[in-house]
Amino acid sequence: MKQSQLFTKTRKEAPADETARNAELLIKGGFIHKEMAGVYSFLPLGLRVIEKLETIIRSEMNAIGGTEMRTSAIQVKDVWEKSNRWDDEVVDVWFKTSLKNGGEVGLSFTNEEAYSNIMKQYIHSYKDLPAYPYDFKTIFRNETRAKSGIMRGREFYWKALYSFSKDDAQHQEFYEKSKQAYKNIFQKAGIGHVTYLTFASGGSFSPFSHEFQTITGAGEDTIYIDESKGIAVNQEVYTDEVLATLGLSKDTLVEHRAVEVGNIFSLGTKFSAPFDLKYTNESGESVLVTMGSYGIGLGRLMGTIVEVLSDDKGIIWPESVAPFRVHLLALGESENVAKEAQATYDMLKDAGIEVLFDDRGGVSAGEKFADADLLGMPYRIVVSERSLKDNGAEVKKRTEERGTNVPFTDLIAHLNPNA
Ligand code: ATP
Ligand code: MG
Repeated sequence: MKQSQLFTKTRKEAPADETARNAELLIKGGFIHKEMAGVYSFLPLGLRVIEKLETIIRSEMNAIGGTEMRTSAIQVKDVWEKSNRWDDEVVDVWFKTSLKNGGEVGLSFTNEEAYSNIMKQYIHSYKDLPAYPYDFKTIFRNETRAKSGIMRGREFYWKALYSFSKDDAQHQEFYEKSKQAYKNIFQKAGIGHVTYLTFASGGSFSPFSHEFQTITGAGEDTIYIDESKGIAVNQEVYTDEVLATLGLSKDTLVEHRAVEVGNIFSLGTKFSAPFDLKYTNESGESVLVTMGSYGIGLGRLMGTIVEVLSDDKGIIWPESVAPFRVHLLALGESENVAKEAQATYDMLKDAGIEVLFDDRGGVSAGEKFADADLLGMPYRIVVSERSLKDNGAEVKKRTEERGTNVPFTDLIAHLNPNA
């Protein structure tokens, strides 16, 4: 894409009321627009990141048997009354409204009831199980704390999968698979090295749930990490009794601030019971379905990547989620540079490399460099009078201090060494 056609521009300042580093950088870079605290619009560059994350998550969910669908955002009162989660006294984050012709509705703050209600239509026999429907969806929560930029939104985009199993054994098998899928997701998203499987509070059907916590000062949680085992314990379940069940000891554990980028939860029959979601087993008995839930906030994940992978100049996107792999800069106003930069742009595109081409005229080299650092594409390629003397371009990774001159004939091989 040509930067001259990208309507967004970088800004020197984020709104004065924005205190979160992730939102500050993303607003300055023109990735997102702040509507109000906890509510952000995703602009072209930001949407490309969300779509990359979505593709990574979708492929991992499909690999463990997930089936994608989309539940409605508008939810019906009767359905949520079944599980006693309609009442504002019970759930204080609902956004609710009433219909013009009477009747109350709410905007999804989560999905368990919607899925239980739908799946009741389709689950009758043991032959219908297991089932793993999931969706990507916008979720609404009237959060009182919305100070963490896109890491805690009042409106946010997530992936939620629900597992429907015959019994605990079948549930556990999937639960373990989901842990590995989640590890793969965070690895691919570039934060695997600072993300830990973390024991967290469970609920009536399970002593624990598991969170995936990423170390960052911007996190709202406190966790205790056992580096040798590669696992952590959330402060909310940090008791001697719990540590003994994990074989962890206080001395090997190190305290960190962290953010929950995803979680997996054994729900047992908590939701199948109120919905009377039963199946007929092999012996003809009617049995309640065993459920699990598996969430990831894509905005939160994007914000976390920015918090973890940035420096004082801007964002450092991992290749897997960067809006573009290459930021191509044409420096100076000479016709020759413009011609060679255009040829480089065409060559990169033909090789299937995603490239943002800074073809803007009247913008100084300093400004173009600063923008490239702020926007954080993994590779910066500069075509200038100087680089043309060697019949090539200067290539620099966002993580490198200095670039190297690469002849045009070697450029594609330089970027795709294994092709
Ligand atoms: P938290 O403990 O941070 O409030 P939660 O436990 O309520 O989150 P879930 O309801 O289980 O989270 O949602 C699943 C996932 O959705 C979380 O792991 C997180 O990645 C994401 N998420 C939750 N709340 C928000 C939010 N307000 N903004 C952005 N993402 C969120
Ligand atoms: Mg939580």
